[in-house]
Amino acid sequence: MVKIAPSKYKANLECIEKLYTNHPYYQWFLKLKCGSCGEVSEKFHDLTEAEKIPQKHNRSETNLLIKCKLCSRENSMDVIEGSNGQYTNNDVGKFKTIVIFDCRGVEPVDFEPKSGWIAEAEDDGKKFEDVDLTEKEWVDYDEKNQTSVGVYELEWKFIKVK
Ligand code: ZN
Repeated sequence: MVKIAPSKYKANLECIEKLYTNHPYYQWFLKLKCGSCGEVSEKFHDLTEAEKIPQKHNRSETNLLIKCKLCSRENSMDVIEGSNGQYTNNDVGKFKTIVIFDCRGVEPVDFEPKSGWIAEAEDDGKKFEDVDLTEKEWVDYDEKNQTSVGVYELEWKFIKVK
């Protein structure tokens, strides 16, 4: 059975036109729950779309391969190619899907945004290449348009689809 969990994000943007990840090199830090025994991993695991790990039992590759500490089941997870989206100033106040994961045996229960985000300022302003959203907010200054820019109140949720 293949389970897909898209994650949705919501944020407030100040003079930022769009916000997106450094796809496909962005590292998604996720806390995962084992579908077999319900164990939630203590630490955050990371997966990157550009990084493929070979699987032992078949020839396919995956972005994340983890063995559950409690029931020893091997689970895997992938970023679905082309699922990366952009959060724009038209989306403010709304949740929007910016990535979809293909989860096999695990599901994400928590997320750490960390760094690796890209923010483009409004009115053809500055492009900020490595935005750190660890604190769920970020503030900077666009010298080009002489205005402060920022991302605030970042929220997310995971939604299952069939
Ligand atoms: Zn387990």
